[in-house]
Amino acid sequence: MADRIYFDHSATTPLDHRVAVAMSLAEEVYGNPSSLHSEGRHARDLLERARGQVAALIHATPAEIVFTASGTEADNLALLGVFRDRNVSAPGHMITSAIEHPAIMETCRFLERTGVSVTYLGVDANGIVDPEGLAKAMRPDTRLVSVMAANNVVGTLQPIAELSRITKEHGALFHTDAVQSAGKVLLDVSRVPVDMVSMSAHKLHGPKGVGALFVREDVRKGVRDKVQLHPVIFGGGQEHGLRSATENVAGIVGFGAAAQLAATDMADEAVRLVQLREHLLAGLREELPQTYLIGHPFKRLPGHLCLGFAGQEGEAIRLLLSLDDAGVAISSGSACSAHKVSEPSYVLLAMGFDAIRARGTLRVTLGRFNTKAEVDRFLEILPQAVNSLRPVASYAGLKAANQGDLRCLKQHK
Ligand code: PLP
Repeated sequence: MADRIYFDHSATTPLDHRVAVAMSLAEEVYGNPSSLHSEGRHARDLLERARGQVAALIHATPAEIVFTASGTEADNLALLGVFRDRNVSAPGHMITSAIEHPAIMETCRFLERTGVSVTYLGVDANGIVDPEGLAKAMRPDTRLVSVMAANNVVGTLQPIAELSRITKEHGALFHTDAVQSAGKVLLDVSRVPVDMVSMSAHKLHGPKGVGALFVREDVRKGVRDKVQLHPVIFGGGQEHGLRSATENVAGIVGFGAAAQLAATDMADEAVRLVQLREHLLAGLREELPQTYLIGHPFKRLPGHLCLGFAGQEGEAIRLLLSLDDAGVAISSGSACSAHKVSEPSYVLLAMGFDAIRARGTLRVTLGRFNTKAEVDRFLEILPQAVNSLRPVASYAGLKAANQGDLRCLKQHK
């Protein structure tokens, strides 16, 4: 993949070679961390060291970290685990936002089928949840609020401190899906009253298939009067009984190493990425005045740009594929999978975009190994690619162009 430019870090990140080294050493430690002999204790030591590293990333204590097999599983555990609490007689109510990742959205849909009432809070044109809207939506039977720390499509950061404070005042639990923000923007759980936080190693240059849920100690122990977290996977009682299964020691060691690297560099790396991002945006605006930024201008992930090109919204998938041919990996606002062009992004629809604009966006997400030289190369490639697309003047024309996307995709395969 020499010379390719990878600008899709919100989808996943390349494994840092220092993480790979830590993992390959851990692969040789084959003991089961629950065994009492030396081999087992050696594996347990590695596991607990990694637990401390992941805890330190968000200023938690090691006992508050529950390892899972993904960010998706951490999200499922947080939501399902609260509503498994049979000490509460009625199914109850939860609040989330209309722009959550499917790991939350689909779990909410499942909970609704079991009788839980779910309120989906709208967002403003920048994709931000209004704290006053949350205060108004709270009910006496609200047991959980879940709002993501940063959105994967548009990169917008939510006012988590304020939202969690409001939730706490009403006696409910607050969960945040921090899969996109962990290791990029500090969430300090010793200061912010969040009860649960989901994270995923592969978004911070760690391995795929490893996640974690921070569970505040009083929630795990059930000493808080309203709700306690219950397991959704049953077995040998690992991870404080909240996630049975023999732990993936090498993967967790990789997560720990990745968390430590991210924590050490977070402030400097955020500044570097914001500079790269702003350089890219300024360059694009100069070359292509029809460029517009989607999401909040500065309350956003440091390396995240979600872009539209006025008048060319029908061409996003073609643009993505033509950039891929030119050696650049980016993604579109509407996920395009397995030969089929998907529905417009529900995130962009919730922000007030119409279906055509919602399908016409590009997501450019920068990461640790990207350089200014790559951004400059991209600034040469992208305007050429955009200008080579046919301009579509009217909405009727845009509609036709959208219908043409599927044919175009097939031609590319
Ligand atoms: N939540 C958010 C906001 C995400 O962006 C993702 C992955 O893209 C997930 C959850 C799921 O994480 P994982 O891929 O580890 O299951």
